[in-house]
Amino acid sequence: MSDSEKNRKDTQAADIMIAEAIQKIKGEITGEFNKKKGPPVGGVFYKVYDSARKTKKFKVEDSCIGCGLCAKNCPVDAIELQDKKPVWVKERCALCLACLHRCPKFSIQYGKNTKKHGQFVNPYVKL
Ligand code: SF4
Ligand code: SF4
Repeated sequence: MSDSEKNRKDTQAADIMIAEAIQKIKGEITGEFNKKKGPPVGGVFYKVYDSARKTKKFKVEDSCIGCGLCAKNCPVDAIELQDKKPVWVKERCALCLACLHRCPKFSIQYGKNTKKHGQFVNPYVKL
């Protein structure tokens, strides 16, 4: 997220992969197209993900202007605006990070490392 040039290249590469996938689907071409091979990570990954979903790791900075976009954009209604500040009302969420990346003031942080990475907004997604 902190490297805008890498973000741009990754988005470009994804565009190409998506276009190829669309062509294969349209042409009803079947086969094994997964280029990335690796060990199955399901169980381990799920444990890490489940722990990361804990909303107590979110913090709001003083720069918050109480616009409510974070609550509006949360797909699982985990955020409520109380006294013009977001409050996480569910113990776990989907960890989509829309609240963090879509905040107009970058006021939401998650753990200790998100500040330095900045925000990323998918140019193709409108909320
Ligand atoms: S989107 Fe950002 S500025 Fe708006 S209420 Fe949420 S934290 Fe505050
Ligand atoms: S990370 Fe996504 S699911 Fe979790 S609180 Fe933020 S917007 Fe909601």
